[in-house]
Amino acid sequence: MRFTDIPGHESVKDRLRAMVAADRIPHALLLEGPEGIGKLAMARAFAQYVHCQNRTPEGEPCGECQACRLHESNNHPDLFYAFPIFKRKSDSESYCEEFLDEWHEFLSSDMYADFDTWVRILNPGTKQPIIYNSEGNAILRKVSVKSYASRYKIMIMWLPEKMKEECANRLLKMIEEPYDDTLLLFVSNNPQDILPTIYSRVQRVKMKRLPGELIERYLVDRYATEPQTAKAMAHMAEGSMTAAVGLLDVETDNVEFLDYYRKLMRQAYMRDVRGLKIWSEEVADFKRERCGSFLEFLARMIRESFIYNLGNRELNYMTREEEAFNSKFCPFVNERNVSAIINETDRAALDISRNANAKIVLFDYAIKMIVALRM
Ligand SMILES: [Zn+2]
Repeated sequence: MRFTDIPGHESVKDRLRAMVAADRIPHALLLEGPEGIGKLAMARAFAQYVHCQNRTPEGEPCGECQACRLHESNNHPDLFYAFPIFKRKSDSESYCEEFLDEWHEFLSSDMYADFDTWVRILNPGTKQPIIYNSEGNAILRKVSVKSYASRYKIMIMWLPEKMKEECANRLLKMIEEPYDDTLLLFVSNNPQDILPTIYSRVQRVKMKRLPGELIERYLVDRYATEPQTAKAMAHMAEGSMTAAVGLLDVETDNVEFLDYYRKLMRQAYMRDVRGLKIWSEEVADFKRERCGSFLEFLARMIRESFIYNLGNRELNYMTREEEAFNSKFCPFVNERNVSAIINETDRAALDISRNANAKIVLFDYAIKMIVALRM
């Protein structure tokens, strides 16, 4: 992993490069920030940069030396990882070591893969993955031996907020009386949950949410997303690449949702009660959770239509297909009915989430749309 592979975070990269240039690599460093912005990728790029034998003038690992090659095949003997795991047998200890196959699969999946992806790969059943007390000794053992291939031994701990107290105490000793040429590199989504004794003793580098334009460009370049759709997704993702890529997955759903939204509004306008009855039965056949997503989608479309109607186009975030319909439909959403429609939509979603009969709730909702569109 090179710095240049990671979109954005230029000042963070410069700070990390400067530590190496000044030969002032801290013993314990924390990369902290929200989920889905590339912190683990940054930790890996930094580790490779530290180990690289031939760094480029631009401040990148060369990608060609032995250390870089070992990094790129996830085999560098002086790089270790600790991460949340679960106990396969309840009566014996478990160590990260036993989960390296899963971990390598995780590392070679998407750069922005995060905890949900890890849980999917790890497959812990109902257990919550954590970093166990026993891992503390395992970590000390790994970093206390002489390094093999490079000067620095690097231990990347992903999600220290999931570390048990005893393990943290072990590391604390190491942070207070550090070994030479050893870097503990923490990567945290929720730094407020890290033990304060640890948190106060590490050097911290904050990483911020990604700018919308950067997410937009990534979706277009990497996933060939249509630009207007990418802009809408980037807006909804609120600076998290993981969220944006997740939205791409539901995009196929949204095409169908848009179809049902169009049907609802056309039939409500035509006072086609029979059509609305069929509509409510079809939507009720969605699974409960999907029904909730659809109603969320409806509320968003209503808001977008209202904003469109007000003429503030730069505040609109819609795919091209959504805009094609809403640009014609928007005169029907105005200051007299917009709150009522959104409230009714939220109420229908709530009723369905509480196990009410979805067919009845949706038909009732559809009938109310007939009235609302005449307001
Ligand atoms: Zn290199």
